[in-house]
Amino acid sequence: KTFAEAGFSAELMKAIAKQAYEKPTPIQCQSLPVVLSGRDIIGIAKTGSGKTAAFVLPMIVHIMDQPELAKEEGPIGVVCAPTRELAHQIYLESKKFAKAYGIRVSAVYGGMSKLEQFKELKSGCEIVIATPGRLIDMLKMKALTMSRATYLVLDEADRMFDLGFEPQIRSIVGQIRPDRQTLLFSATMPRKIEKLARETLTDPVRVTV
Ligand code: AMP
Repeated sequence: KTFAEAGFSAELMKAIAKQAYEKPTPIQCQSLPVVLSGRDIIGIAKTGSGKTAAFVLPMIVHIMDQPELAKEEGPIGVVCAPTRELAHQIYLESKKFAKAYGIRVSAVYGGMSKLEQFKELKSGCEIVIATPGRLIDMLKMKALTMSRATYLVLDEADRMFDLGFEPQIRSIVGQIRPDRQTLLFSATMPRKIEKLARETLTDPVRVTV
């Protein structure tokens, strides 16, 4: 398998080559065709598998495919992660590929100034990476609107539940339009995560690595 088989644009292929990603990892091989086709996915994979790029690369394609990209405000891609460390890593991975397209990425998580994050979101972004509690805070402060969010990623869903974020995740999912594409990644699939998947994903494809 190669990245070229995914049908990425020359620009994205250049960005991938710049990262010295020679070939897709197993989770990327399985996920990329599914996610690029627009379907929902449950990815059972751990950190280190390359799962971040498995959802970031199609997110870039999804954003560039939006016909009214310039018009509206608020993120198109929304990524929820359990910890600020993971959110920051996803932010860095997203920036690598977003930069070439002028796609703006914001990261919001606990431990940073709410006012600074409010201002950053107000200035606009196409991708937001967030821990669930802080994203709820930002939504309450009306720092952003979810009206054009159509690509939702729940990363390390089992850890988010372990950390008590279930109500926040449900609230966030409830604020994003139902015609979205939803991706759920988890290292394990306990019954509570299966239930979340049943309730928030539409006819998902399941991939395991
Ligand atoms: P992740 O599991 O998403 O945390 O990724 C683990 C590490 O693998 C990160 O440093 C990525 O930048 C890197 N990575 C992701 N995809 C590839 C790939 N196809 N080839 C080589 N390295 C990769």
